[in-house]
This record gives sequence, C-alpha cells and structure tokens, in this order.
Amino acid sequence: MALLRHNGKGRKLVVIGNGMAAGRVLEQLFERSPDAYDVTVFGAEPRTNYNRIMLSPVLAGEKTYEEIVIHDEAWYEKHGVTLRKGENVTAIDRDLRTIATAAGHVEAYDKLLIATGSTPIAIPVHGVTLPGVVTFRDLDDVDVMLRAAEKGGCAVVIGGGLLGLEAAAGLKAKGMQVTVIHLMPTLMERQLDPSAGYLLKKSIESRGIEVLTEANTKAILGEDRVTGVLLDDGREISADMVVMAVGIRPNAKLAKEAGLVVERGVKVDDHMRTSDPDVYAVGECVEHRGLCYGLVAPLFEMAKVVAAQLAGERKAAYTGSVTSTKLKVSGIDLFSAGDFSEGDDSDEIVLRDPTRGIYKRIVLRGDRVRGAVLYGETDDGPWLFDLLKKETDVSAMRDTLIFGQSFQGGALLEPLAAAAALPDDAEICGCNGVCKGTIVSAITKNGLTSLDEVRAQTKASASCGQCTTKVEALIASTLGDGYEAAKRKPMCKCIDLTHEEVRGLVVSRHLDSMPAVMQELGWKTSCGCPSCRPALNYYLLCAFPLDYKDDAQSRFINERAHANIQKDGTFSVVPRMWGGLTTPNELRAIADVADRFKIPTVKVTGGQRIDLLGVRKEDLPAVWARLNAAGLVSGHAYAKGLRTVKTCVGKEWCRFGTQDSTGLGVKMERLLCGSWTPAKVKLAVSGCPRNCAEATVKDIGVVCVDSGYDIHIAGAAGLHVRATDLLGHVETEEEALEHVAAVMQLYREEAAYLDRLYKWVEKVGLERVRQVIMEDHEARKALYERFLVSQRAVRKDPWAERAAGFGAKEFTPLAVVAPIEAAVELAVAAE
Ligand SMILES: Cc1cc2nc3c(=O)[nH]c(=O)nc-3n(C[C@H](O)[C@H](O)[C@H](O)COP(=O)(O)OP(=O)(O)OC[C@H]3O[C@@H](n4cnc5c(N)ncnc54)[C@H](O)[C@@H]3O)c2cc1C
Repeated sequence: MALLRHNGKGRKLVVIGNGMAAGRVLEQLFERSPDAYDVTVFGAEPRTNYNRIMLSPVLAGEKTYEEIVIHDEAWYEKHGVTLRKGENVTAIDRDLRTIATAAGHVEAYDKLLIATGSTPIAIPVHGVTLPGVVTFRDLDDVDVMLRAAEKGGCAVVIGGGLLGLEAAAGLKAKGMQVTVIHLMPTLMERQLDPSAGYLLKKSIESRGIEVLTEANTKAILGEDRVTGVLLDDGREISADMVVMAVGIRPNAKLAKEAGLVVERGVKVDDHMRTSDPDVYAVGECVEHRGLCYGLVAPLFEMAKVVAAQLAGERKAAYTGSVTSTKLKVSGIDLFSAGDFSEGDDSDEIVLRDPTRGIYKRIVLRGDRVRGAVLYGETDDGPWLFDLLKKETDVSAMRDTLIFGQSFQGGALLEPLAAAAALPDDAEICGCNGVCKGTIVSAITKNGLTSLDEVRAQTKASASCGQCTTKVEALIASTLGDGYEAAKRKPMCKCIDLTHEEVRGLVVSRHLDSMPAVMQELGWKTSCGCPSCRPALNYYLLCAFPLDYKDDAQSRFINERAHANIQKDGTFSVVPRMWGGLTTPNELRAIADVADRFKIPTVKVTGGQRIDLLGVRKEDLPAVWARLNAAGLVSGHAYAKGLRTVKTCVGKEWCRFGTQDSTGLGVKMERLLCGSWTPAKVKLAVSGCPRNCAEATVKDIGVVCVDSGYDIHIAGAAGLHVRATDLLGHVETEEEALEHVAAVMQLYREEAAYLDRLYKWVEKVGLERVRQVIMEDHEARKALYERFLVSQRAVRKDPWAERAAGFGAKEFTPLAVVAPIEAAVELAVAAE
C-alpha cells in the first residue's frame, strides 16, 4: 500500500466524488483562493466532471457527451488539480487523516470534502438484479440504455417522477416502445397537483408512451435476463429493458463507516461541516437541518459556502433552500415550486385554458405566495419563485397575479421590458443558481455580447436551457442594439428552426396562417410564445399582405394602444409630425390635451416630435381621440415600423440648402408610414452635406447635394453607433422615394424579426443590396411595386381594427388612414 503525502505549497484538500457539487466547490474555491490547497480529487467514474442533469438530453439524442462536459482535462491541469479518475474511495481514517482507495492508494489530507452524491433506489422485488434492469444515474447507465435501444423492443420505466419520465421520453425518441409504471394516481405527484398531473399524463401519452398509474410492481420477470414486469393486479408487461427510477438515497455509506454522524444523509451544520471539523460534505449525500436535496440549485448554494469556509471565510453559512422543478422533455412545459397542498389557511388562484392545454395555480397564504404549479406556459415560473422565496406581499397584484409578471403595472410588457423589470436578485437559471444581477454585471463588466459568452462566464442557460429566452432577453435589454445573437439560433423554444428557415418555409410552402405554420413546421407548443408569435405575425403580414389578417393578440400593448409604457406604469404618447413639421393648430391640440389630462411632462424628442409623458392608461383613448380630431395620428414611437423622418429646413430657408429636404422628408414619411418592419426604422433627409438632420447615422439617410440625392443606409446611433454606408446617388426626388421604398421592402422581405437594418446589411453584405437596388432596375421596380401593394393593404386594414384590442370604441385613429392613402396615391402618381 503506497502512502501518498502532499509536497505542494498549500495545505492538502482531498475531495471524494467528482460530480456536480464537487466541481462547483472547486470553481468557487479557485475564484476565492487559488493557491490555498494542493487538491486531489477521487472520482469513481472514469471521466472528468460533466453536467449530470443533461444526461436526459444525451439519452434523447439531443446532446452529445462532449457537449455536457463541465471541466475537461485541461481545466484540472490549469488549476493544478490531481484527478484520479475511476478510483473508488473505500475508507476514511480520521485519526491518521488519510483516505484509501480500492486500487490501494492512501492519500493524506488536511481537509476532506465528501461529495459522493446519491445512489438510485432499487425496489426489493424478485428479479431486480437480472441483466437488463438498469438505473439512470450516470453516463454508463445512458450507454447501456442507448445500446439496448439500438435493438428496439420494449422498455418499462418504473417510476413516473422527473427521472422516469425523462428516461421514458429519451427511450421513446430512440425508437423503443415504452411503458411507464407509476404507483400513485398521478404523475410527478410530489411536484404537481392532480390537474397538472393529468395534463402531463395526456402529453406523455400523446407521444405514444403508455402510462399505467396506481400500478404496483410485484416482480421483474425473466430467467437469464429481464423479459417483463408483473404487477400486483396480475398484469404482465413484456420488457427487453427495465429502467428503475423510483428515487434516490444519499450515498453516505463511506461517511458512516468512518464514524461520522449520518442519519438520512451525512449530517452537516450551517457551515457544511460534518461531525468532524476537518471534514466537509456537500451535495446530495448531505442532510442539512433534516433535509436532503435531489436538485442542483441547493447543491450550488451549499458549494458556495463550502468554498468560502475552505478559503477561511468562517462566517459563510448555508441556511437551506426552497426548490423548484422543471421537466426536461422537449415540448412539455411544467414548473412547480413550494407547497401547493390545500389547506384551511390557504387560498388559491387558478387559470385553465383547455384549448391551449394551460393550467396555472398559485397558492397563497395571506398575502404571500406559498406554492405554484404551471403547466403549458411556464415563463413566469422564475418570477413566481422569486416572490415565493422573498415572501413578497402580493396583495396589490392579487387580481393579475395569475396572468404573470408581464401583466403587472396594468399592461402587457414585452419580454425585454419584463426582464429589465426583474430585481437583481431574481433567479434566472435555476439549474445553476444564477441571478439577474450576476448576468447583467458579467455583460457590462466583461463586455459580453453573445449568449455563448454569457453561458461560458456565468453558466446561466448552460444546463437544461429552459431559461435561454430569459437570458437572451437580459442580454438584449442590457445591450440594446449591441446584442449579437448567436449565429445559428433556433427561433425560440417552440421550434428548432432559425428565423431565416421559418421565413423561407412560410414563403416556399405558402403557409399563410399561424395555425398552418405551426402545424406544418411542427411547433412544439400549441400556440407559440411571446417570442415567436410577433415574429410569425410579421412574416405572415409581409408575405401575404392582402390575405393575412394582422393578429392583434400577437402584438404588445404598446402597439395596440399606440403608446409606450413607462417605468411607473403610465404611458407616453407621441403624435406624428410629418418630416418634423407642425402647425399652430396641432400645437394647440397638444397643449389642450396636456392641460385637460394633467399630463405632467411635455418633451421634444430627438426625432423632432413632441412626447406627452405620464398619460394614465384610462385616459389613452380620450387623449388619442382629441389628438386625432386635430389631425394628429400615431407616431408609432414604439413600433417595429417607420418611426420618424427627421429633416433640416433645406433650401427653402437655409443658405446652404441644395434641395427641398423638408418637403422630401414629408413625402417620404407619408409614403413609408405604416409599413411594419422587422425592427424600428428611422430616416432623415439633410439638405446639404453639412448634414444637420444627422442622416448618416440613420437606418436610411438621404443627403441632398447640388446634383441630386445621395442615399445612405445602415446607420445606427443607439448603444451601437455606426455611420451609414453610401448606397448610391440619384438625380430626382421621385427616384429618391422609389429607391428608399425599395430598400425598405428588401429589408422587410429578408431580415429576421428584430434585426435592425444595419444588422441585416452586415449579414447580407452592402454589395448585394447595392446590386439589387442600384443596378438591377427590374428588381428594384418589383420591390417598389410590392411595397406599394403592402401599403395599400395597410390602408385597407386601418389601425382602428387593431385598436379594438385595447377595448375602447372611441379610440379610432381613422385620420391615419387618409395620410397613408394620400401617400400611396402620391407614390403611384409619381411612378
Ligand atoms: C438523469 C438525471 C437528470 C437530472 N435532472 C435534473 C434537473 O433537471 N434538475 C436538477 O436540479 N437536478 C437534476 N438531477 C439531479 C442532479 O444531477 C443532482 O442533484 C446532482 O448531480 C448531484 O450532485 P452531487 O455532486 O451531489 O452528486 P453527483 O453529481 O452524483 O456526483 C457524485 C459523484 O461521486 C462519485 N462517487 C460516489 N462515491 C464515491 C467514492 N466512494 N469514491 C469516489 N467517487 C465516488 C460518483 O461516482 C459521482 O460521480 C438529475 C439527475 C439525473 C441522474
């Protein structure tokens, strides 16, 4: 037996177990105190540390093992860690302060960390040890299942909890015929109430998996290997493989044999110390304040405390965790947190939408959320979980609580605004315990611009991926226009296709309605989500302008109400001022409205308009009615559409002006107004190269010169500042209008939803846009024609109808129709 003594610079830390908790402790320790210890890790598995929770996607064929590795060999080397893979620790000698392995090594320690995880429970029935009976705990188990699945046949999964259902879905995806046997009347009964359990069963069955509830396994059948399962009601289910997924038990045998205090798990105090002060324990093997955990979030909280303790931060303490659960089966959205049992002291709010398969239940005790179950639509899970953990008083939002976070403040927030409104300590990634503040500060401090970078640095969305939309919303709301979306990114969690792919199929297969797109392209959700619905609505509007009817419900309230929600829940209203021009009558109308409705702030915007800030939601219809009566229409200050055409005074007044820039700006705004675009579009026309209208930082800018008009595109002046590129030169005003409208149409037809014009140009290349617009006359004319067709459709479908979603009859900005009509006529006449 060889006795290994450390000879490094620090004290010796020995870690038993190389799983998720141990890995997290080491990461945290190296961040705090990289040189404090010589570290040796013993792992029974013959590999480096990987993300165990991602074994389900590996089984389902959605991920490879390589993609779920957390620490590769290089990581251990970089941190000077000695990793002894495939080496099982068999004994701890606390007197000598050594551990011994099955291979005969003995290693000395100053501090010992036990992180041995759990062992799957096998129900004690006849046949449980037969070949073909497997558990679902590590990569070797997955390999066994995958090999068995290659042969096809039948699998029986015993246990309808999280692990069992993920195993069943994975095996089904691999082509096996699968039956789930569950002892209780409903699935996942510890996390879901009976209604959600019922919906879950329906979803699982709709995938072709048989589910037997209230079914008790009596024996596993077979001679040399498993052939079936016998239930105690006499039914026999044939099986080529049986997956045992009935639960886990803390793996505390080693600790017990070493004389440490063990009850259900290795007992630890709030400092994560066992009954021996030199021995810490972490992860699923521990019992803390009488509780054992089987999810990663609590383990990560424990890991932080262990690392702090090892680094000498004596006060660091773990006080327990509240947990939430999600299921990682593609297309099944469920969330559960807290205590949702019925009781005299509790009250519940329930929402059911049978057609969409949505069920939501929030359980309250007094004014606090005590538990929540969401099925079918789970975006609000983290928000509810946050309210639950913080014991927030929800009395003020009780009436709208069930509609979710985005409905708070009286209006429906876009995902970006909803993400921005979250408090810094709101948990975003439950798998890795990452809060909003951590993500935002990593983005701003380290200049992160992509999802991959945020994943690498913070671990948010790096595990099950269900929080990806939220993380992306945070990146987008933090960076604004600077957000670099990942290169091949599925449109959203409802579909694995990219925006470009969906859009291409919508056109090539003539999928002209939302149900047609979802059905034919295999949407994983029944009705899409707040990310894909607005995008689809836009793609359909653009592809079928005459036939497709705009879906108001796929638009956010800002668009429906023609007002921007502000941070205090009031709105801002911006009437259009064509080309920045106004009249005494319009100004009087604005002043009257401001007085009458006690609008606290009236402000001139950078886009040459007047912003009325602080309008109450209930006043919006009347405010708009009065503005409309004076001929003022919506400025679309919130829209993914044309916002403003900024102008300078031009040759009418300016000594340097070369052309009528104001007049051209007005015509351009009237021509383009109302055309929905992938993202906001701002234009400007400057009367001379002195460029007082700042045309060279707009999406499209026209700079007038003596010989005509220089057309610029792809500028930006937000968080991302970019000067425009010169597209080309034209001689007449009519040509300028046609070229600009053709650019708009090309952008409308090609860009992914939410891509700003400059992003699209960067993607497709300036040369291509130049070729189509400046050189291919036929192509430009065709684009212009299509643009006019779509504008006629807008005219046919006035916003009065869209406004109906807002619920106010008198709110009918009909006046908008006339200017569009006139603009289109003007453009047609100019042709
Ligand atoms: C398929 C699957 C899906 C899951 N999905 C989720 C999920 O969606 N969300 C969630 O929160 N949690 C999920 N979990 C649970 C989560 O993976 C665990 O909570 C987490 O891995 C526990 O971490 P740990 O370090 O305590 O244990 P483990 O990660 O199991 O690591 C313990 C390690 O110690 C090793 N070991 C044990 N004894 C010895 C010894 N004597 N000597 C040397 N090495 C030893 C083991 O081989 C193992 O590698 C899932 C688990 C599985 C199996």
